[in-house]
Amino acid sequence: MSFLKTKSLKINCGVVGVYGLPHAAEYAYLGLYALQHRGAESAGIISNDGKDFYAYRGMGEVASVFSDYDKLASLKGYSAIGHNRYSTTGASDPVNIQPLFTNYWGGRIAVAHNGNITNYKTLRKNLESSGAIFRTESDTEVIPHLIAKRREKDFIDRLIGALKRLKGAYSLVLMTDDSVVAARDPYGIRPLCLGKLKGGYIIVSESCALDIMKAKYIREIQPGEILLIDNKGPRTVGNIEIKKRAMCIFEYVYFSRPDSKVFGENVDKIRRRLGRQLAWEQPADADIVISVPDSSNTAALGYSEGSGIKFEIGLIRNHYIGRTFIIPNQKLRDVDVLVKYNPVRGVIRGKKVVVVDDSIVRGTTSKKIVDILRKGGAKEIHYRVSSPPLISPCFYGVDIPTFEELIAYKHSLTEIKGIINVDSLGYLSIEGMLSVSKKPKDNFCTACFTKKYPVMGDNIPRS
Ligand code: SF4
Repeated sequence: MSFLKTKSLKINCGVVGVYGLPHAAEYAYLGLYALQHRGAESAGIISNDGKDFYAYRGMGEVASVFSDYDKLASLKGYSAIGHNRYSTTGASDPVNIQPLFTNYWGGRIAVAHNGNITNYKTLRKNLESSGAIFRTESDTEVIPHLIAKRREKDFIDRLIGALKRLKGAYSLVLMTDDSVVAARDPYGIRPLCLGKLKGGYIIVSESCALDIMKAKYIREIQPGEILLIDNKGPRTVGNIEIKKRAMCIFEYVYFSRPDSKVFGENVDKIRRRLGRQLAWEQPADADIVISVPDSSNTAALGYSEGSGIKFEIGLIRNHYIGRTFIIPNQKLRDVDVLVKYNPVRGVIRGKKVVVVDDSIVRGTTSKKIVDILRKGGAKEIHYRVSSPPLISPCFYGVDIPTFEELIAYKHSLTEIKGIINVDSLGYLSIEGMLSVSKKPKDNFCTACFTKKYPVMGDNIPRS
């Protein structure tokens, strides 16, 4: 018996913060529900009614963790923070579920984190050697420890002092006894934005989480910005020095929802541009364009627009696969991909097909998709990828496998074409990928395509 892995790339988290709304936890729940794609291993919400903090956290997707309304109703108060987790540091274990909560000399503090702290091992070792006791394996736990060690009177000063010690990626929401605080690393690696609803304010990883609450998008939290929300409203109270920006380009390629605004730009528009650019760079003589659903749908539409080749639905994705679907019979070859995708034979039979995919990781899924398309009657298959070859792992909060597991690290384009058995193969160039945003090209992290890591830390190889 084996279990089906339903995704090959996973991002580590989504975060939500709510201030100044009755039943704040209910808004946090809605926000987490919209951000489910950013982490489905565990979910949690901590609320604050001005007297106490209330927490509920569990393993699984948001809807199953909060399947009983009483759990949500027990989270009282006008402010709340929430977190969806996929583990990239620390095991998938209840002890590591966020938000983390602690009580220290300065009061209560809860923290939810998206990203990876790249010098966490060094920080943890130093903290432990000075007596700190850690309860989790999560990199996030160094943050409350660093805050508690500071001696400044004001919480924001303590927070700034702690954040200055961190390297890597952090988009944070924190809750204190009387405020909700948002903070983003100076490189701006992971997204974070501010919204408004009635008299309250919301912080979320992606703007799709504001839409579900009917909240209005206000703006991106700037790289390095520390934004305090309390009874005087939201205001910037600090900035960690901005050296260089390194927003994750993969948020546009794959991770973020196309209906979100991320890094201040509309993901759908960017993803269509990726597809159009791919069509111009990597044309194909074909009858139809199809996508590997769902993450490649928008780029495939862009490819169709850029090439003039008709877009068709050639693969249907089963949306009802659980995280641990049991493959009942090992002799059913390729059943894992067949469970997830089924070809529309009437669409592809006898056709020269362009397949648009957002990325190729190990190549195993691409090979199986090509196989089922060929068995479905496709005459030719021209595989087009709306990002450059993936050659390096990510150390900033995305679960990209090791160098050895990445097909493009080990093999040439010609070899990959042979391995996945396609008639032609074309990737988007780095320059082409970066050309689709209005932001300067050097504002983005491209390390998984270039091996040029913008922030160093424990275990990150030098390019
Ligand atoms: S290495 Fe890749 S996935 Fe990681 S932050 Fe950089 S661009 Fe994003």
